Amino acid sequence: MSLFTAVEMAPRDPILGLNDQFAADNNPNKVNLGVGVYFDDNGKLPLLQCVQAAEKAMMDKPTARGYLPIDGIAAYDNGVKALVFGAESDVVKSGRVSTVQAVGGTGGLKIGADFLKKLNPNAKVLISDPSWENHRAIFQNAGFEVDSYKYYDAANRAINFEGMIADLSAAAPGTVVVLHACCHNPTGYDITPAQWDKVIEVVKAKGLVAFLDMAYQGFGYGLAEDGAVIAKFVAAGLNIFVSTSFSKSFSLYGERVGALSVVANDKEEAARVLSQLKIVIRTNYSNPPTHGGAVVAAVLNNPELRAQWEAELGEMRVRIKAMRQKLVDGLKAAGVQQDMSFITTQIGMFSYSGLSKDQMVRLRNEFGVYGTDTGRMCVAALNSKNIDHVCKSIAAVI
Ligand code: PMP
Repeated sequence: MSLFTAVEMAPRDPILGLNDQFAADNNPNKVNLGVGVYFDDNGKLPLLQCVQAAEKAMMDKPTARGYLPIDGIAAYDNGVKALVFGAESDVVKSGRVSTVQAVGGTGGLKIGADFLKKLNPNAKVLISDPSWENHRAIFQNAGFEVDSYKYYDAANRAINFEGMIADLSAAAPGTVVVLHACCHNPTGYDITPAQWDKVIEVVKAKGLVAFLDMAYQGFGYGLAEDGAVIAKFVAAGLNIFVSTSFSKSFSLYGERVGALSVVANDKEEAARVLSQLKIVIRTNYSNPPTHGGAVVAAVLNNPELRAQWEAELGEMRVRIKAMRQKLVDGLKAAGVQQDMSFITTQIGMFSYSGLSKDQMVRLRNEFGVYGTDTGRMCVAALNSKNIDHVCKSIAAVI
């Protein structure tokens, strides 16, 4: 008998489990389209030039590592505010935004979830169907009941927007609605600006709380274009939550650089909100780590490095779009009869391919092409060397 006798084995993370299977696969042509990570055309995880330049400058002038403030590096928080809301925006200038550095986008979601639970313990949380796996778990672990709103329309390979609006309209006031600000994970389908207006109308009319998850800013149409949805919510006078992740946009996955921003009604209210966010942080991990935040702050706030980052991010975005087109063309060339052009209307790092679980299993076992059982493939891991094999393999199982 031990303290842990009754402890059950938790299920393995499905995506990390896929990684293990990939690592053990001897197929020389194997391709990992399972994880949400951007690889360059050589199949390598990029180390951005802007990051290297910022790190070099830091190494040339080494500094001691004291504790950071609970809410992180001030220059970082201000850089995030400027990026997400606009440096010259009224909402930032009037001091209505509280931003805290977080341990990745996941940390931003968790801080927001814990704060919301204190604010409105009986609220329900709605996530998209389907959504990033961790959304449900994060909000459940914060103590919420989590349900979903309709999103993906598998039959039409589109968004069930009417269903989404109907589900949001039926939600009780105070319900927290988690929305993907851009580059929906896992489907790759985003709603249009006009559809966002409609969502905002319902959020406002029903008194819902919008929590925008911005994990891919810059991977859709551009930094400003992808950020425009935030300004729409602000213009509607809503108190919103925005989590930010720089894991992908800076290729700094392991540094865990993210943020949470909350929009209050005035400066005084924002200060009270910030004080509560700090309590959440203090009682979880005290204060954030230094390095990643310092790198991102240096890049965001230095015009030269900032321009370099935007160029490098632009390259990633353009390359993903080119691979989407190559995938569509390659599938056609490989003999796929059905129209696969939906792949180029999807946006961001993922494509819901529409393939069944059986087809995905065959792709793995017979061809070494790894995607999730739901049919999600990371198009940001395609490159000029693996694309032919991927197209031929998909053609063989369709
Ligand atoms: N939200 C979404 C939609 C994501 O896809 C991810 C990363 N997979 C995150 C949040 C978390 O980002 P991070 O790795 O920075 O915690």
